[in-house]
Amino acid sequence: MAKGTIKVTTENIFPIIKKFLYSDHEIFLRELIANATDATKKLRAYSSMGDFKGDIGDDTLEITLDKEAQTLTVKDKGIGMSKDDVEKYINQIAFSGAEEFVDKFKDQEDSAGIIGKFGLGFYSAYMVAERVQIKTKSFKDEQAVIWECDGSPEYTIEDHDKSDRGTEIVLHIAEDSLEFLEDARIKTLLDKYCKFMPVAIKFGQKSEWIDNAEGKKDKDGKVEQEEIKVDNIVNNPTPAWTKSPASLKEEDYNDFYKELYPMNFEDPLFNIHLNVDYPFNLTGILYFPKISANMEMQKDKIQLFSKQVFITDNVEGIVPDFLTLLHGVIDSPDIPLNVSRSYLQADGAVKKIASHISKKVSDKLEELFKKDRADFEAKWDDIKIFIEYGILSDEKFAERAKKFTLYKTTSGKYYTMDELTEKITPAQKDKDDKLVYIYTSDAVAQHSFINAATTKGYEVLVMDTHLTSHLVGKLEQSLPNTTWTRVDADTIDKLIDKDEKIPSKLDEKQQETLKPVIEEVVEKAKFSVQFESMGETDQPMTIVQPEFMRRMKEMQAVGGGGGMQMFGGAMPDTYNLVVNTNHPLISKILNETDKAKQTEITKRTTDLAKLSQNMLKGEELTNFINQSIELI
Ligand code: ADP
Repeated sequence: MAKGTIKVTTENIFPIIKKFLYSDHEIFLRELIANATDATKKLRAYSSMGDFKGDIGDDTLEITLDKEAQTLTVKDKGIGMSKDDVEKYINQIAFSGAEEFVDKFKDQEDSAGIIGKFGLGFYSAYMVAERVQIKTKSFKDEQAVIWECDGSPEYTIEDHDKSDRGTEIVLHIAEDSLEFLEDARIKTLLDKYCKFMPVAIKFGQKSEWIDNAEGKKDKDGKVEQEEIKVDNIVNNPTPAWTKSPASLKEEDYNDFYKELYPMNFEDPLFNIHLNVDYPFNLTGILYFPKISANMEMQKDKIQLFSKQVFITDNVEGIVPDFLTLLHGVIDSPDIPLNVSRSYLQADGAVKKIASHISKKVSDKLEELFKKDRADFEAKWDDIKIFIEYGILSDEKFAERAKKFTLYKTTSGKYYTMDELTEKITPAQKDKDDKLVYIYTSDAVAQHSFINAATTKGYEVLVMDTHLTSHLVGKLEQSLPNTTWTRVDADTIDKLIDKDEKIPSKLDEKQQETLKPVIEEVVEKAKFSVQFESMGETDQPMTIVQPEFMRRMKEMQAVGGGGGMQMFGGAMPDTYNLVVNTNHPLISKILNETDKAKQTEITKRTTDLAKLSQNMLKGEELTNFINQSIELI
């Protein structure tokens, strides 16, 4: 038996690694299976180049657990190693790789996160094993050997009677890692890390039901089923993203989506197949999931692979932020994985990848829009949140998105910005020649305002996501000489102020008299009473919240209000209570001489205004209803 000492300068890297990777011990399995996969693929390559003339045969990898012996074995039928290979690749490369790794990362603060994602290769076996054996026989038909080491620099190597080609890595699982001898635990790990590895992986057997061999039938005349055991292959070695887009149908993409997210029952809206080989290598499929605008959106659904080996489901910094809400997979060997996230975000190659993905996504959206506008419109409500997010966070995307961003009106029509501008220009310019865009955040709650606006011939846009106030701010900035206003931000005549004066029935003095009467029945801090001369058939009182006030509040709520902290937290909600001086009811209030009666009518009129704004709640609402019943 030959003994040797592995040359490492850092004494005992083992405990350091073990400590570092405390939460990520499980990646040892991915690392060993990745090595086995590489060895198998190498043999396939040698065979196709003629460097290996033998028969490859079935080259399925096999994972086995032996609870009694406390071992976990990863077996492959790949190129294997000769004694010299083991000396070179295991004793020198694997260990020096581990040492280099430790040197590089032991002082880094965020190392815990990255090391797990990167992986240490063969050495990671020592995170869970107290002793590792390698039984291996090279495809070059040399003497098989067995190597053994307990993680210390001493190892042994001797001849072995293994007769078949390939490598078996036998882990003698440490007492603190016995969980890795459990079937269920290993199944979960195989599913997490190895689901799409490129060589078939067998783990145990599973049942299948087939027609019985003798053709026996049951009493209903059906062929009886019999149970057989078949190899349990845990992975799909040729996932959709590795295939050429031309060979895939819509259905194949949807099937793959189900494979990725078995718990998602909705089909995705559409997919984008990424396929780049210059200046970097990247493949993948991104899906626009079907989610409604106000549903809690989940990040971290995109999975990152490197040559079909699962790396992480946190693609932050690699994929543009707004696209992390998409689903799917990205596979790129060119994303540096052995670095920290902050480094990754600054990396030039990664930036290129991110901007490429963003471009691909906008190209696809434009293509869909041009190819089938009706279908694009049908999907718009589901995808707009991604696009709005993109417009706000990625300037280049915002530019490209102009071609396909749609604006929906309350009548259910969709317009591009150019179409919309043309449509509203005749009716929606104010006295200063500014074009006024009107929007609603809630077509039901703001119904009476919308009704007034559409009656006037205005178009009201439905903008109902939590990004609306930011988006409106951006649009106002980028479209010169325009104003954006929510439909309930003012009374109908002021919404687009055309300076058309209606004579007022009440003079200033009468208004002065009326003001305190009204102020008496409403919360003064919340409502500012104002008079406006409107049409006789318009509402007697209207409650509006000025655009500026509301937008500040909304911006503050979603973050980025800027400077609003001086209000000491949330800004109070304040409204204008606009009194229509031409409405007969208002004159009636003014002329009422019985004080109690005057207060009563005033209260009821303000309550009605509140009611139409959904502001009448609790006790106030109960009283209002009770009094109304009495009246009837
Ligand atoms: P890496 O895979 O990053 O090169 P590892 O420490 O995982 O580093 O492995 C070191 C080397 O050992 C590999 O490059 C390979 O040459 C050899 N090796 C590891 N596992 C196997 C295997 N199952 N079959 C053949 N060679 C292997």
